[in-house]
Amino acid sequence: MQLPAHFEYQRARSVEHALALLSRHGPEARLIAGGHSLIPMMKLRLAQPELLIDINEVPELGGIEITEDEIRIGALVRHTQLLDCAEVGRSAPMLHDAERVIADPLVRNRGTVGGSVCQADPSEDLSGAFSALRAVADIAGPAGERTVPMRGFFHGPYQTAVGPDELLLRLRVPLPAPGLRTGSAYRKVSRRAGDWAVGAAGAAVTLAPDGTVAEVGIGLTALGAREFVATEAEDLLRGQRPTPEAIDAAGRAAAQHCEPVADQRGPVEYKRHLAGELTRRVLRDALARAGGR
Ligand SMILES: Cc1cc2nc3c(=O)[nH]c(=O)nc-3n(C[C@H](O)[C@H](O)[C@H](O)COP(=O)(O)OP(=O)(O)OC[C@H]3O[C@@H](n4cnc5c(N)ncnc54)[C@H](O)[C@@H]3O)c2cc1C
Repeated sequence: MQLPAHFEYQRARSVEHALALLSRHGPEARLIAGGHSLIPMMKLRLAQPELLIDINEVPELGGIEITEDEIRIGALVRHTQLLDCAEVGRSAPMLHDAERVIADPLVRNRGTVGGSVCQADPSEDLSGAFSALRAVADIAGPAGERTVPMRGFFHGPYQTAVGPDELLLRLRVPLPAPGLRTGSAYRKVSRRAGDWAVGAAGAAVTLAPDGTVAEVGIGLTALGAREFVATEAEDLLRGQRPTPEAIDAAGRAAAQHCEPVADQRGPVEYKRHLAGELTRRVLRDALARAGGR
């Protein structure tokens, strides 16, 4: 059995307390939420923090709130909590599609939304989903709070906009204006139920009153898309009628512009094919939920 290297442990009581501990101990300190990514990395000695700052009892980081124009999801919300929130399923069904295919109940009971996006593993399902939904991240640091769009949050594999002395507070998902038809969906291909994605895609579509695409977000997971987004496919669809031909063209653009890597889950050509096909399917699913076409 592999064991982590020696580390100290402190429980933060508030955001302020967590930030003070981060400042005091510098980059050798790491926050721990669900621990489902950090602990395995520590066991493999890929991470060797000197201090773990446990944020599980920081009250400001919990809770889901839905207002007229956005969904606010605290960084410490567990996967299961997001899945259990019926209003999230109604307002942003893609999040429920994605949560249903993350690992198994053990991981979902403990793993957090904030830990998932801060881990920034290229196969993290919520990264693709939140990017497609154009969520924004509220981050707290020594200089106060700042907001970073998800498209700008991921700086590369395992790298995010959250600095070593900062903490992710919450994610906010914008909701379209009332009256506009909108829908979203997420699909994942994995080798076995509960596995990490071979490839996955999410789409969020909002239709204008004349039936054209007012806004579209397309996220790709594990498929080598820059910042988890298929920008070129989005640009092709925006302002168009979502015809089968337009959807097909978006699928082709998603496949062409992603840069997947070959690994034990499949070769590059297969992953490119998945990017195209999954993009077409989630667009059709999202449109069906929007009552479009
Ligand atoms: C067996 C297994 C299978 C899995 N399968 C999948 C899967 O199919 N799809 C998928 O998407 N995920 C999967 N996961 C990952 C799971 O979703 C984890 O919950 C997630 O990666 C990390 O969340 P966590 O709360 O455990 O984070 P932790 O492990 O506690 O932290 C991860 C990183 O985020 C940082 N961090 C945590 N919270 C904050 C915060 N508020 N502010 C700043 N930094 C923070 C930590 O310092 C650390 O660097 C799997 C995990 C396991 C163990």
